[in-house]
Amino acid sequence: MFATSAALNADLHSHSNVSDGTLEPEALAARAQANGVQLWALTDHDEIAGQARAAAAAAAHGLAWLSGAEISVTFAGETVHIVGLGFDPADATLARGLAATRSGRDRRALDMAAGLAEAGIPGAYEGALQYVGNPDLISRTHFARFLVETGVCHDTHEVFRRFLTQGKPGYVPHRWAALGDAVHWITGAGGLAVIAHPGRYKFTATEEYALFSEFKAHGGRGVEVITGSHQPSDYAKYADMAREFGLLGSRGSDFHSPEESHTDLGRLPPLPARLTPVWEAIADRVRRP
Ligand code: AMP
Ligand code: MN
Ligand code: MN
Ligand code: MN
Repeated sequence: MFATSAALNADLHSHSNVSDGTLEPEALAARAQANGVQLWALTDHDEIAGQARAAAAAAAHGLAWLSGAEISVTFAGETVHIVGLGFDPADATLARGLAATRSGRDRRALDMAAGLAEAGIPGAYEGALQYVGNPDLISRTHFARFLVETGVCHDTHEVFRRFLTQGKPGYVPHRWAALGDAVHWITGAGGLAVIAHPGRYKFTATEEYALFSEFKAHGGRGVEVITGSHQPSDYAKYADMAREFGLLGSRGSDFHSPEESHTDLGRLPPLPARLTPVWEAIADRVRRP
């Protein structure tokens, strides 16, 4: 029987070069297997084009697998990420919603490049494109890689801090999907919606409460408690919030690249045993090798 315990080495948040990761889905599956992951999901930003390859690679490496995606949402003026797990990748409404969410990225990238050019960095759009694996998915991460490669910054974190966050020359405000739409696309496709890395958002306590309440009211079911984006203090805080809101707990590295990510696939503390794991609720959606 497939283990449903909180102790399972599940990694349900990772990125390939189908969005802003650097590895192919096949290389990610191999790395997950080598790191002892027992259940894996590829959750590319706003995109499911890598799902068939991820499923095949998971099977080839003897890994249990769930479908996945990470949807960009605008809530209370901030960008929030919602992870969908265990949905039908062939669902037409989900595919249309993701396509609509992706559609503004190219225009935004051109505007980002214009801002960077004014700050004395020409050619950033073409530069970022060199790192893009999927032309529909140009992201800030690709600009960050270009600015590191050309020696403008030492690492991608410095690029975000100096150029790509609110108030900085390469930052362009953008309206993503609505929270309710993203949750409904996921649940309508038979999947389970999860609030990604809540500890990363710059919300007041009131805004955060509103996010959790509205997410739950729309049919959202889970929250990432153990993620590469959280500090240990966040683990306890969001385990408590999961209990308070009756949400399931999720776990994922948010791995993007061997060079850039500080948390590798599967290399995370276990989900706190007092939480019910998301993989228990969608055990019937897991594709076993
Ligand atoms: P985008 O969807 O184009 O706005 O890009 C968001 C992505 O940028 C996130 O998914 C992360 O991969 C990356 N990112 C955001 N903030 C940072 C940061 N401070 N340092 C490095 N990468 C970041
Ligand atoms: Mn990313
Ligand atoms: Mn994210
Ligand atoms: Mn992510």
